[in-house]
Amino acid sequence: MATGLVYHEICMWHDAGNVSSFVPAGLDVQPDRHAEEPETKRRIRNLLDVSGLLDQLILIKPEPAEISQIARVHPDSYISGIEEASKSGGAEVGLNTFIGNEGFDIARVSTGGSIAIMDGVLNGQMKNGYALVRPPGHHARPTEAMGFCIFANASIAIREMQEKYQLDRVAIVDWDAHHGNGAEEIFYEDPSVLTISLHQDNLFPLDSGAMSSIGEGRGEGNNINVPLPPGSGRGAYQAAFDRVVIPALQAYKPQLIVVCSGFDACGLDPLARLMLHSSVYANLTKQLMECADDLCQGRIAMLHEGGYSRALAPYCGLAVMETLSGIKTNITDPFDEYVSAFGGQDLQPHQEAVVNEARGLVDNLR
Ligand SMILES: [Zn+2]
Repeated sequence: MATGLVYHEICMWHDAGNVSSFVPAGLDVQPDRHAEEPETKRRIRNLLDVSGLLDQLILIKPEPAEISQIARVHPDSYISGIEEASKSGGAEVGLNTFIGNEGFDIARVSTGGSIAIMDGVLNGQMKNGYALVRPPGHHARPTEAMGFCIFANASIAIREMQEKYQLDRVAIVDWDAHHGNGAEEIFYEDPSVLTISLHQDNLFPLDSGAMSSIGEGRGEGNNINVPLPPGSGRGAYQAAFDRVVIPALQAYKPQLIVVCSGFDACGLDPLARLMLHSSVYANLTKQLMECADDLCQGRIAMLHEGGYSRALAPYCGLAVMETLSGIKTNITDPFDEYVSAFGGQDLQPHQEAVVNEARGLVDNLR
């Protein structure tokens, strides 16, 4: 069975705001590119195209999510506030988050694409798939836009799938460099969704993503944070997967694995200080696939989140898509050797201490 790709050019037309990186432009800040710009994402799609892999994927051009679907996570007052800001020509709607003119309808396509990829995996149209959408979603809280995120794409789509397919166990693995605070909050007291976030310690949001946040009430034990020290690379991620992520998935036995996929943990990213390279993303994907083959007929749906290196993000995306599809292209990542040789790529003692402490969280799962 083939691998799917969700893409709609309109997502690339989302205006993330007049900034330098993510700081508002003004009298003392010359306007520059937004970190969350379309080109990183377009270059992933273009590399898939040039490599020939795109022709071998099931391509889905998504529809906008219905308001009723978005309302599974966000209250009506929040949704209408975003719509009004968008219809009035665009406005700042949250911390580091701008919605452009008509951006409401574009954000709905991003959410709709997230629903489409999960639905495609669950209805048997594809074995696994990737939604290459923007704006991203993993920082969005039910009543607050933040971190470039408008709607909580993954959480909305999971709620929709739970309703449609009566799923009672879904796992999120968030490997974006920043904490997946949105899903953590949304499912904090909900045992039907296991939330796992690997992120750089205290990067964004600040004071979020501590290992002590384990869920509450019926969800206690089902939130796992692995706050990795800055400088973590191949060894730290491999240890975190071997000792925490994979054992947690095996213990929880999800019916679907959702990956909130940011490539901002790569060694050339401007917004984080981690050191992954494309062949590590391929390995982590392979491990998730083996786990999914054992547990849930291989069902993995990946949703794009961050990743701001125009140079390296495309090769990380290609590596993930080659692995998901089992199709190796003729393109070799020209950066892989360079980044993989960075000092400190092997597991360091202070990183191992964090991973081993997080390993204890697997025992709390229910
Ligand atoms: Zn991120």
